[in-house]
Amino acid sequence: MRLTEENYYTNESNWKYWSVSQYKQFTRCEAAAMAQLRGEYEPPVTKALLVGSFFDAYFDGSLEQFKEQHKEIFTRKKELRAEFRQAQKMIERAKRDPLFMKFMSGEAQKIMTAEMFGVPWKVKIDSFISDTCITDLKSAANFRTLPRYRYDLQGAVYQEVARLNGYGVLPFYLAVCTKERTPGMRIYQIPQSALDMALREIQDNMPHFIQVKSGEIVPKYCGVCDYCKTVQGAEIHNYLELLED
Ligand SMILES: [Zn+2]
Repeated sequence: MRLTEENYYTNESNWKYWSVSQYKQFTRCEAAAMAQLRGEYEPPVTKALLVGSFFDAYFDGSLEQFKEQHKEIFTRKKELRAEFRQAQKMIERAKRDPLFMKFMSGEAQKIMTAEMFGVPWKVKIDSFISDTCITDLKSAANFRTLPRYRYDLQGAVYQEVARLNGYGVLPFYLAVCTKERTPGMRIYQIPQSALDMALREIQDNMPHFIQVKSGEIVPKYCGVCDYCKTVQGAEIHNYLELLED
């Protein structure tokens, strides 16, 4: 199966290939990840996700198409809703910054695949400059909360897939614009030591996840995510467990 813009996010491609987002889903809840693969569960698209997609769409040149496909971002008067006016402001701010735009000037939405840990992986890179660096675009509430999203895992996989495709070890950057009233902009480099550590973490977890995905092992229910709350019945718990940590 050759991956293209059209089939990258399909179910068939998600069964065949691992991706950073799929790996993260397995770390959060194996049962939800498997239900999603089987087409039984679709996590809701939040407003915050949609604002992020609006911002991303400008940089990959698909903003007009995005506006066509998401009528819900407009009011009845055909004006952009407040959150998306904010995203527009972030775009305007980023466009005026030469450094930010330099990092975003690579090949947009570069798709690559490689065999890692015994299974095929796919990546889609926001800005790929083949002899310089890999950059992923992020819109974030603020800078402080960035590490919460484990972008080190993303950088580790992107870098390793690029390396296996013959591009050498490219540094990984995040081009971040905040959703604050006055948008802030920074370029963060994730140090090589953090990327190496993240790749080892993935390597340690993969044998188990591969067995879950192939159906050899029954997936674990995390018990707290939206999917688990939907499918699991009530259980008896000890009240005191709520007081722990
Ligand atoms: Zn769960």
